[in-house]
Amino acid sequence: MIYEDYAIFTPGPVKMSDEILQLGAKQTPYFRNAAFSDVCFDCETGLLEMVSAPEGSKVVFLTASGTAGMESAVMNLLGKDDNALVVNGGGFGARFVDICATHAVPHTDFGVKNTDLSEIEKMAPDEAYTALVVNAHETSVGHLYNLDAMGEYAEKNDMLYIVDAISMMVTDSLNMQQSNIDVVIASSQKGLALPPGLTMVILAPKAIEKLLDINSLYFNFKDYLRNGERGQTPYTPAVTIMLQLQARLKQISKRGGVAQSIENAKTIADYFRASIKALPLKEYTAFMPNAMTTLTPTDGKSAMDIVNDLEEKYKVMVCPNGGAERDIVFRVSHMGEMTKEYTDILIDALHDYYGIARS
Ligand SMILES: *Cc1c(COP(=O)(O)O)cnc(C)c1O
Repeated sequence: MIYEDYAIFTPGPVKMSDEILQLGAKQTPYFRNAAFSDVCFDCETGLLEMVSAPEGSKVVFLTASGTAGMESAVMNLLGKDDNALVVNGGGFGARFVDICATHAVPHTDFGVKNTDLSEIEKMAPDEAYTALVVNAHETSVGHLYNLDAMGEYAEKNDMLYIVDAISMMVTDSLNMQQSNIDVVIASSQKGLALPPGLTMVILAPKAIEKLLDINSLYFNFKDYLRNGERGQTPYTPAVTIMLQLQARLKQISKRGGVAQSIENAKTIADYFRASIKALPLKEYTAFMPNAMTTLTPTDGKSAMDIVNDLEEKYKVMVCPNGGAERDIVFRVSHMGEMTKEYTDILIDALHDYYGIARS
């Protein structure tokens, strides 16, 4: 099914701007030349600036979904001699745990709930760890962790700090230097509001020094860094998405920089949350990012039914949860090309659905 005439509030893919969509309609150019190297350099510089990466940081561009960014970061940086503390507050935390298990990286599955880990120092198991691995925004439940507090803890204990920022960069504050982050994993289809298919791993010098010689051809970061010196990737990159990324970074900058993007996301998230106060829905977590609102029905209705009804009756896409949470929560993304007017489509649909007049 093609959702062209649907209003989309799903946490990836998200609503894209016309400017980016138009680039997607063009012929994909040849890329082994200086013109495309400049595109790669532009993308790298823009990304590094956006996350306040320390001097000497580099970006690995992989043609794959975000999970490949997560997995390849673990593969290239953690080995048998490591001991990783993996924050697990939901589906994406569990994925990092699975990745560590798959690659036989010694790790602790650090299950957390109802905390943003401001107190990680007190909560973490008392063990010697070499790495802290976390999803800054645990998208499965809409939970944002305290990156500064975790960074302090990581630095104090000399741990490599790996942050999956896929669903919060561009909408929520991310500063590698301020939070002592060594690795940031990004992906095209969330806050960056591009098509899926490109994942980026940003490596601070501390991470670059620690890169391992690994048993993989496609995911060998050292090879990507070598090729990156001339603005190329070892294998065919997602050329069009790279061109869209270049345009998107320019767009963010033209609109007032990433601080302005974050401010806009916050305005939209606050507006949405304030506008649905009269409805029998409550916020699922006290630690919501600007990127997303997670809601629980308070009138006994099934969250899954609400999601299905919004799609069928109003052509509005929000996101259900799976498993045990399928009837308990649904998620509304504020990532991408969002305005108050666009958000009104969902707010009005919800009011109509409940038969409650919007105040
Ligand atoms: C979406 C997302 C990913 C990546 O998922 P893919 O489907 O592999 O792109 C990873 N981590 C988080 C926190 C996400 O929200």
